[in-house]
Amino acid sequence: MTRSHLFYQSRQRRPVLDQARGVYMWDVDGKRYLDGSSGAMVCNIGHSNERVLEAMRRQMEKSTFGYRLQFETEASERLAARTAALCPDGINRVFFVSGGSEAVESAMKLARQHALAIGQGTRWKVISRTPSYHGCTLGALAITGYAPLTDPFAPMMREMPKVPAPRAYLDGLDPDDPATGAHYAAQLEACILAEGPDSVLAFIVEPVGGASTGALVPPAGYMEGVQAVCRRHGVLLILDEVMTGAGRTGRFLAGEHWDMDPDIIVLSKGFAAGYVPLGAIAARDGLVEAVLDGGGFLHGFTYAGNPLACAAGAAVIDEIEAQGLVANAARMGGALRARLDGLMDRHAIIGDVRGRGLLLAMEFMADRDRKTPLPAHLNVHQRIVDIAFDMGLIVYSRRTRDGLEGDHIMVCPPLIVTETHLDEITQTLDAALA
Ligand code: PMP
Repeated sequence: MTRSHLFYQSRQRRPVLDQARGVYMWDVDGKRYLDGSSGAMVCNIGHSNERVLEAMRRQMEKSTFGYRLQFETEASERLAARTAALCPDGINRVFFVSGGSEAVESAMKLARQHALAIGQGTRWKVISRTPSYHGCTLGALAITGYAPLTDPFAPMMREMPKVPAPRAYLDGLDPDDPATGAHYAAQLEACILAEGPDSVLAFIVEPVGGASTGALVPPAGYMEGVQAVCRRHGVLLILDEVMTGAGRTGRFLAGEHWDMDPDIIVLSKGFAAGYVPLGAIAARDGLVEAVLDGGGFLHGFTYAGNPLACAAGAAVIDEIEAQGLVANAARMGGALRARLDGLMDRHAIIGDVRGRGLLLAMEFMADRDRKTPLPAHLNVHQRIVDIAFDMGLIVYSRRTRDGLEGDHIMVCPPLIVTETHLDEITQTLDAALA
């Protein structure tokens, strides 16, 4: 291979991608991969969906860019309306960006401007959880609870308060007992009280944890509990649905599993399904009105809301609905979960299998009963990713325990998967684990 001018995370070179169709990808040497992670939990409707490509071609023939402060476009209006219709009642205002980190930044700045507009300028702290991941920009990193990614930048950003993610399985608590959810919600309330409620702007949470926790499903009573705590103290509730949204967990929004009523919803990844860089925030009507009345939203990115991105986004939602992919995620998620549970019976290294819909993960442990992590230097999560990749299966991995130790892989294929694909995923994982 000739010298590359690219640089990303490390010096490691990756195979060169040639084509991708449906759940499969091919490199330039003709090797085929089953995309068991949808990229990074992005390609929810599969690769090269012809109807999305056609919608993009049609839009490209008309216009590819219109600066949002100069023009509205049919595409951005249509996507905003489609998005609002899929959000809870009262959330009808949509703001576009080009990715998840930009969307998280936008949610934080909208919340801050709302506080200023309603005379609550003392509120600026955004509480989040450890572990969590909310993006790579400095604002989003300040609310990310994942030490290896945040520590090197500590002097450059203001550290925000964190509460523990509700990892009942590590704390020896029963996830089905509502007292468990209440226990973790009380930790949020204690944090708000310790910080001083008048200084706290918002709490941001992923309804089902993403890569940092390995698909952590909150215990019974947790989501309702944190919502009640936020309401009690005038703290805005932000749901980060970057990974969970667009059908991934078997509902269009994961917040629907608990009938949540947030103030701001953050979307990206599956929202554009890998076709274009696109993200959005959807916010409560009154919140946006107050900000607009207060002088306007002082925020925006040049490429945001461009017609090509919005046309693709609207076509993605059309496809999710036309193919019934939310229901398929629920159905195939159940079927994949059963297969992963079966692998757990065969491989002692699997300490836990968890998730919702097609946001599934397995955590590897030295001792399943004691929940002891494997020695970090063995890098088990990375080795399993690499072995599976060589065998033609793509999965995604991270360190489970605050980024410091613990190993998990995410098994999150596109929502178009069939039982045959699930068999292929399971057989390859079985061989990789062996
Ligand atoms: N929030 C969550 C929950 C995410 O999973 C991610 C990306 N992994 C982000 C925000 C940041 O998104 P992006 O990488 O598109 O900036």
